[in-house]
Parts: sequence; structure tokens; C-alpha cells
Amino acid sequence: ETITVQELANRMSERAVDVVRLLMKQGVMKKINELIDADTAQLIAEELGHTVRRVAESDVEEGLFDAPDAEGAQTSRPPVVTIMGHVDHGKTSLLDAIRHTKVVKGEAGGITQHIGAYQVTSPLGGLITFIDTPGHAAFTAMRQRGAKSTDIVVLVVAADDGVMPQTAEAVNHARAAGVPIIVAINKIDKEDANPQRVRTDLLQYEIQVESLGGETLEVEVSAKTGDGLDKLLEVIQLQAEILDLKANADRTAEGTVIEAKLDRGRGPVATVLVQRGTLKQSDIVVAGSEWGRVRMLVDDKGGTVPEALPSTPVEILGFNGAPEAGDRFAVVENEARAREIADYRQRQKREQAAARATVRVSGLEEMMSQIKTAGRKELPLVIKGDVQGSVEAIVQSLEKVGNDEVGVRILLSGAGGITESDVILAAASKAAVIGFNVRALKEARDAADRTGTEIRYYNIIYDLVDDIKSTMSGMLSPER
Ligand code: GDP
Repeated sequence: ETITVQELANRMSERAVDVVRLLMKQGVMKKINELIDADTAQLIAEELGHTVRRVAESDVEEGLFDAPDAEGAQTSRPPVVTIMGHVDHGKTSLLDAIRHTKVVKGEAGGITQHIGAYQVTSPLGGLITFIDTPGHAAFTAMRQRGAKSTDIVVLVVAADDGVMPQTAEAVNHARAAGVPIIVAINKIDKEDANPQRVRTDLLQYEIQVESLGGETLEVEVSAKTGDGLDKLLEVIQLQAEILDLKANADRTAEGTVIEAKLDRGRGPVATVLVQRGTLKQSDIVVAGSEWGRVRMLVDDKGGTVPEALPSTPVEILGFNGAPEAGDRFAVVENEARAREIADYRQRQKREQAAARATVRVSGLEEMMSQIKTAGRKELPLVIKGDVQGSVEAIVQSLEKVGNDEVGVRILLSGAGGITESDVILAAASKAAVIGFNVRALKEARDAADRTGTEIRYYNIIYDLVDDIKSTMSGMLSPER
């Protein structure tokens, strides 16, 4: 446990220079933005006449998330679906078409409002929740914050255009998250539509659809004419039944923030996806470093509701500040606890920012020491190279260096420069990005800074493999 000199001074409302001076008197030479350990910090605080109460993360956040449920408490819940695919293949059109046919018609006079997610009823009678922000970045950004918010990915491929780079990227993202894919072949109304080509193209990405004897469910649709939409919803429900999705509704709520904003009239508004429990009016919620008492819950039709069950998206009014998309939220027992957690996290945020500014702790070795998986330890990597041939050679060599205890796990490999999307994908799995004879785009470097993701560059395959080898041997014996 450590704290920067500045942060310690802030918490005591003392001047940082005075803290530095006191430290010097104790023989500890530190600059304002450097870290000191908890014992030293306590000594200094007491010297200055402050009472010290140490708060550890485990004290603050203990039991906040994922407390185990009693057996038998689980009941089934609707699937949460994200639509992904290449640009212009019809993601937005499909989301709109589904919403309009299923929501507006159903609710007499109902006006749908965009809150970041919505629910519809499938023709088979089950509810389905759609995340209304298409795009891989949002999906992966949420996952990166530890939020598993999607049960099923609908992969949209335009029948007139076929499989495109972002189609492949979407497949990689879904795979990395371990989320099943349903293929929606869109724009079948078009004259030059060639759905069969989409099916065969997908084989290259190891997606074999049902009509070709595989296991991936597929549907032909047209967001324009509405053809196939009912079928798509049925197939989603089918897939959900296979997944047997369950949650305990009978407990305090927790879930994920999908969108949050500061609304001029209504103050901070956060759309959350309830993932367990039932969220109720007057509940006290914490999300990220913000908290509040639920003043009002608003559903995707713009109506006020008294409560929200698992897999339901709902707007929360009553936060003191807007949390961030991807933050997890939880209901806590009282305001004091909510404030304690929010304060703690706010401090933590400041400290992390300060620490990032001074030391760049990173390194694959560091990362590996954090991976505590039982059994075979795996080093997750994203590999980009200048040409497909060298990428393949690298992947093959790296796969060979593993053994029973350690090995690499390649999340994504391909030819081309390192993109922001590559970095986000890597960050979500705490992977490093390897560039072979390629550089990272500026957005990618920014994303790497933001997420603390390491990018390593090489121009000799031997060096690359050697480096990864020595990293892995470091993984073998943490006690050494
Ligand atoms: P996104 O970038 O994946 O969200 O794609 P959009 O939903 O914005 O669609 C891109 C373009 O394709 C728009 O001009 C849509 O009107 C058109 N489009 C989408 N779905 C269909 C469809 O099923 N049939 C036809 N003919 N056009 C479509």
C-alpha cells in the first residue's frame, strides 16, 4: 500500500512542501509526486497531529459485487444482445427496425426514447434486451472494466458486400469475450445480394453456419423491408434458451452503466443494465466514484417504473454526478457506506493519475505476475505485422515455445498497423500488443497510454520469439 506525497498532503489539508520537509527530517528523500509506503505516511500524519484510519480496498469494497446467491434462488432472465459488424452493413438500421416494429406498435402511443438499450418481446413470447450502441469499441470498453454485459452477439453482414475487415474484427471481439455469435445476413432485399457468399466467406473465420452443417445460427434479414426480423428474434430467444441464462431477482441490485450524461433539466442521468437483483426506487446506488439515491427510474419507453428486474435497462435519476459508461453499479445499505466507497474511489482515481504521471509500471513480466489462473499460465498477445506471411511465421513459432505449464494465447493476429481497436481488444484481456515491422497509429498509442497497455516493437522474428520465451520462463517460477 502506497500513497503519493501530494495525496497524503491533500488528505490532511497540509502543504505538500511541509510533508516533504518532514520526510526529509526522517531521512526519507521524496519528491511531491513520489510514492511513500503506508507506515511512513502514518508516521508523518501523526507527527502533524492527525488521527489515522487506514482504509483498505478490501474493507471498502468487500462484498459489493458478486456475493454468492443461495442455491435455488436463480430464475431465468432475458438475453442481452449487442449488434456488431462492418460499417454500413446495417447495424443502426437493424436496431431501429427492431425497435420500431416491436416497441412502438406494442405500446399504444408510446414514444421510444434512446437510453442506450431497449427491450422487445420476441414472437415466441420472451423478452430480449438490445444494447443500442453498436460498435466494437463500446462492447470491448465495457468488458475491459470487468463488466460482462453481453450474452449474444448478432454479427451483421451485408449480403451485397460480404465479409469485410470489421466483420472479422467483430468475430475476434466476440470470441475474445467468449460470447456466442448469431449471423444476420442483411440487405437481402438488394438485387445484388449474395447471401451464399457470406456463408462461405465466414468459413475462413471458422464460423460455420447451420445451413452449411455448422453450429452457428444464421438468419437472412432486411432492415429496410422488415423481412426476417421476427425470425431473428426467434433465433435469439432460441440461443438464449440454450445458454440457460439465470439471475437472482430477489436481492439488492447490481449491474453495469451503459450510458451516463449530465442532463440540463434532470441532472446526472445514468442508464444501467440490471444484471442481478431488483433495482428499486429510493435504493442507494454506487457506480464508479459516484453515488446517489434513486429518485426515479425511467424505462426505454420513457415511463416511470417502480423497479427493474435482471437484464432490464433503465435510467436512474438521483446520482450526485454522472458515472462513466462501463462502470459497475451496486446497491448498498446506506448513504454512509455509499459515500465511503465513492470517496475512496475518487481518491484512488487521483492516485492512479498521479502514479501514471511518474512511474510507468508495465511490462509483460508485471502483467504475468498478476495472472493467477490455475493450471497452464497463458500470456495473452495481439500480434500485428507488415505482411501476412511474417505474421503467420511469428504465430507458429510462438505457439511452439509453450509447454504444459505456460504458453501464449493469441487473441488476434493480422497484417497492418496497430489500431486503436487492437489496443482496446488487448487491454480488455490484459494482453500486450506486438508490432512486427509496423507502428502504432496515434489513436492506438493514446489508447495504450490510457489503458496502460504495453506495445512492443520488433523487426527481427528471432528477437521477438526470444523475448517472449524469457517472459514465459519468468512466469514459470514466481517464487524465484
Ligand atoms: P451501420 O453503419 O452498420 O450502422 O449501417 P446503417 O444502419 O447506417 O446502414 C448503412 C446504409 O445501408 C444505410 O443507407 C441504410 O439505409 C442501408 N441499409 C441498411 N439495411 C438495409 C437493408 O436491409 N436493405 C437495404 N436496401 N439497405 C439497407
